[in-house]
Amino acid sequence: SAQRAGSAQEEDTMAVLDSFGLGGRTTVVTGANRGIGRALAVALAEAGSDLALLVRDPASCAEVEAECRALGVRTLAVAGDVTDAASVARAVDTIGEAFGRIDVLVNNAGACIHRPALEVTAAEWRQVMDVNVDGVWNCAQAFGRVMVEAGRGAIVNIGSISAVIVNRPQWQPAYNASKAAAHQLTKSLAAEWAEHGVRVNALAPGYVKTEMAPVDDPQFRQRWIDDVPMQRFALPAELGPAVVFLASDASSFMTGSVLVMDGGYTTV
Ligand code: NDP
Repeated sequence: SAQRAGSAQEEDTMAVLDSFGLGGRTTVVTGANRGIGRALAVALAEAGSDLALLVRDPASCAEVEAECRALGVRTLAVAGDVTDAASVARAVDTIGEAFGRIDVLVNNAGACIHRPALEVTAAEWRQVMDVNVDGVWNCAQAFGRVMVEAGRGAIVNIGSISAVIVNRPQWQPAYNASKAAAHQLTKSLAAEWAEHGVRVNALAPGYVKTEMAPVDDPQFRQRWIDDVPMQRFALPAELGPAVVFLASDASSFMTGSVLVMDGGYTTV
């Protein structure tokens, strides 16, 4: 049975491996059609969670849906644009009707524009803020409302080490600001919703090999690798276990935390 984050642990025992299990729960993953979101959906399915994939184009989810269903969980791709609160509200209704419960939200959808500050246009600034700040807020508020009413839930925001460091020489000022906002929103909601049994944490990855991080671009590759003590990038699948941890009872006394997974990048 789900451990309520706000309630006291009755007994001083913990079934360690079982505590990572998400069987019988429903998880919403935004931007689950590709990149990190897709890998997280598969990891959460492996942990036993049913999945609602909140994406702009449900047709783009065919492969990840098939992969998750093969793991034996219910999987549904639901149309939604995280920047549009009305669209998120419709997705909450659709998912609530289809699954009957919403236990976990993974705020993964994100956008990044690499550009020196003086060249960033107003539209580029707005787009990054809309997806990475308003998008996280829209989903956290709408799905968080369902969780607060149920008295249980977990939210995992995909932040970034870009909230605390600055990437050189491929500048990304809007992205840096947006991820810092996502980290602090994590703490704000965690403190407010703790008494309602809703935990809110963030994962802050370093460079991960997806379309967002052009890790094969020869102009940046060596410079970036030089910055990482482990001398490599993460693969999306390596983030899965950390998100299962934050989504599950394995992290029952953890809220408002930012878990860093960066190959040592922020230690140097
Ligand atoms: P990708 O660019 O590969 O994927 C971005 C995802 O976000 C896509 O699924 C995209 O959907 C979705 N998305 C964008 N805008 C919206 C929107 N308005 N509504 C719904 N979905 C949207 O990025 P990654 O997989 O690399 O990044 C995933 C998360 O991880 C982001 O929050 C990113 O900031 C974070 N991160 C990434 C790192 C990296 O090095 N890659 C490092 C640290 C953090 P669509 O296919 O429709 O465009």
